Amino acid sequence: MLSTMQDVPLLISRILTHGSTIHGTSQVITWTGEAEPHRRSFAEIGDRAAQLAHALREDLGVVGDERVATLMWNNSEHVEAYFAIPSMGAVLHTLNLRLPPEQLAWIVNHAADRIVIVNGSLLPLLAPLLPHLKTVEHVVVSGPGDRSVLAGVAAQVHEYEELLAGKPTSYDWPELDERQAAAMCYTSGTTGDPKGVVYSHRSVYLHSMQVNMAQSMGLTDQDTTLIVVPQFHVNAWGLPHATFMTGINMLMPDRFLQAAPLAEMIATEHPTHAAAVPTIWQGLLTELTARPRDVSSLTQVTIGGSACPPSLMEAFDKLGMRVCHAWGMTETSPLGTIARAPAHAVGTPEEFAYRLTQGRFPAGVEARLSGPGGERLPWDGESAGELEVRGNWIAGAYYNGPDAEPLRPADKFSEDGWLKTGDVGTISPYGFLTLTDRAKDVIKSGGEWISSVDLENALMSHPAVAEAAVVAVPDEKWGERPLATVVLKEGATADFETLRAFLADQGKIAKWQLPERWTIIESVPKTSVGKFDKKVLRRQYADGALD
Ligand code: ADP
Repeated sequence: MLSTMQDVPLLISRILTHGSTIHGTSQVITWTGEAEPHRRSFAEIGDRAAQLAHALREDLGVVGDERVATLMWNNSEHVEAYFAIPSMGAVLHTLNLRLPPEQLAWIVNHAADRIVIVNGSLLPLLAPLLPHLKTVEHVVVSGPGDRSVLAGVAAQVHEYEELLAGKPTSYDWPELDERQAAAMCYTSGTTGDPKGVVYSHRSVYLHSMQVNMAQSMGLTDQDTTLIVVPQFHVNAWGLPHATFMTGINMLMPDRFLQAAPLAEMIATEHPTHAAAVPTIWQGLLTELTARPRDVSSLTQVTIGGSACPPSLMEAFDKLGMRVCHAWGMTETSPLGTIARAPAHAVGTPEEFAYRLTQGRFPAGVEARLSGPGGERLPWDGESAGELEVRGNWIAGAYYNGPDAEPLRPADKFSEDGWLKTGDVGTISPYGFLTLTDRAKDVIKSGGEWISSVDLENALMSHPAVAEAAVVAVPDEKWGERPLATVVLKEGATADFETLRAFLADQGKIAKWQLPERWTIIESVPKTSVGKFDKKVLRRQYADGALD
């Protein structure tokens, strides 16, 4: 029999209406690089999201589920776009501004974006691309930046503020099907063409609730979150939506993503929480060591996107910032696991080990491990296999055009519809995930596996080492062997023998796993979202010629 409950669709417009009324005084604070940051209340964001929706519909003719792209930093206008576009029934398509231009053009053409909202500071990136963007008819420019680079372009150019001016501050948001597309984000195409993940209103709504739960990020309207993770990277980990549900203030860095301005933002705007990938935190740590500031407001830090090195967690703990480690991917919205120690371990020496795992699965995510032959592996904390997941905010396919059947490549989805994550690890009997590596980063030496992450973490705990990335290089005898590429801290020295002896002393790394190939590099190449880009290193050292 059916329930007697009301069937109210889970829509982003409802999150917007809730946030802009109930939490109308909460703020989005955008860093401007000037003495005063820019402040806008959630109520104002609500008004302006309505104005933007009117402008998109009435001036630019957006109808149905058209894709509207954003090429923007984290700022309050981007938050307006986040809410206005899906709430009116269109699809927000966030563009990763760090992708190579050809990939960006491919993505815009694939999604058939007709409108791009762009920050003025990013026009030098967009202008040369425009001739290659086959479907773009309108460019809407927001914020400072030289407009003259757009002279002569075929698309119509509009000013964001002029489009909004005088438009009504309310909008009759349509009652959509909650399964309808709300937003899309392409994976960065590490292998082959990028793949489009399309989030639904329902998935965004449920994911936002999960982000807000006490055992996830658990923030309230007394908090201010510094959202360093870009809005073009998996919806800034769901934070902009989650904040409107509970009134969390947002501190947005705009284009000021270097360690010095981030430290300045923390010292002057006193956020209580921040979210970013490990490389950002590593940079911040170096900055704070060189030029200490009062960052005592920041007590919680969410780290994800790559494994959090133990040395980083320890260093932040010492600063009074409690690191919470999380795992996810574009396909998982992204919250897949989050590492909060179970009650019995809190306050005991075991707690740190729990916090270093990728964490536990929330109720909306189911997990299983698949062995080399596709067999199911037990949750015994020892059997390592490929992680497969399914759930309310997990992708079941990739975008293949509005009228085509979605794509379900066999290397990404199991026959019964689970997402194959490409991540290898173990799960403990009570659901703590420990990733040992990405399937493509594992070093396969003489039929055994060496975890590149274990070697990196051990190296990065040496006082002279700032960053370390370990990749497989071909080896005649063993098939593959690890090559350690190491970045030394400013002014520090260390020779390979010392580092090797240090690794051997750690007790966690077997002798046969110790690298015999090393090189000192200036910095580890990073991907478009700030992760170690190991494919660049692999390519660079493909001949393994560094004994
Ligand atoms: P990309 O493939 O471009 O990095 P994503 O941002 O979707 O795109 O990255 C997802 C991948 O990042 C995961 O499959 C996993 O390999 C890695 N990852 C994310 N969080 C963690 C973490 N906490 N520990 C280890 N790896 C992580």
